[in-house]
Amino acid sequence: MTDKTKKTAAEAENIKNGLLIIVSGPSGVGKGTVLKELRNADPNIVPSISATTRKPRKGETDGVNYFFKTESEFDLMIERGEFMEWAVFSGNRYGTPRAYVSDNLNSGRDVLLEIDVQGALKLMNDGAEGIYIFIAPESLDVLRERLRGRGTEDEAEIERRVKAAEWELTQKDKYDYVVINRVVSDAAAEIENIIRKSKKQEK
Ligand code: 5GP
Repeated sequence: MTDKTKKTAAEAENIKNGLLIIVSGPSGVGKGTVLKELRNADPNIVPSISATTRKPRKGETDGVNYFFKTESEFDLMIERGEFMEWAVFSGNRYGTPRAYVSDNLNSGRDVLLEIDVQGALKLMNDGAEGIYIFIAPESLDVLRERLRGRGTEDEAEIERRVKAAEWELTQKDKYDYVVINRVVSDAAAEIENIIRKSKKQEK
């Protein structure tokens, strides 16, 4: 027998034709680049745009990279139940808008959530159906160098993110797949294969 309560919750979250693809990985692992390549290869994939209380980085645009919110705007979104999940990461809040995700899934599009580990674990616990993929770095040293190289965070923030990564890596085996990002095009191709395989299994 299946657990009916759990299934109903999952269905309510996720009545769908499209596939929900949940990707996590430490900050600086190169998720953005890998996922961009994946989306170029598969235009049916719609990236979800999260809301965050983090300040925009140089070059980021509201409504494109994130919906940038004040603390009280974010509070209101929580109160209204607008998030599928939300979490605090490195002192800022990030949340996945429920309506955007379910509208796209219901229209048959695959939706990509690039969210932190806490958020992904919440979705797993809620029984949200999808494929859960963790992108891992070759090592924490490589990760630290990448964070330094992109030059968007100061040293203290880099160390906070490396510390967060240490914990995140302890959770990777809870995901359906772990992909190590050594070469961007290889990691993107690996994820493409995973998606293709999941779709075949769904049929
Ligand atoms: P960044 O500040 O580097 O843009 O993002 C920091 C972390 O927050 C990343 O691990 C990113 O995947 C995660 N994140 C972005 N949007 C969401 C979201 O909607 N929910 C959760 N739980 N994490 C998110």
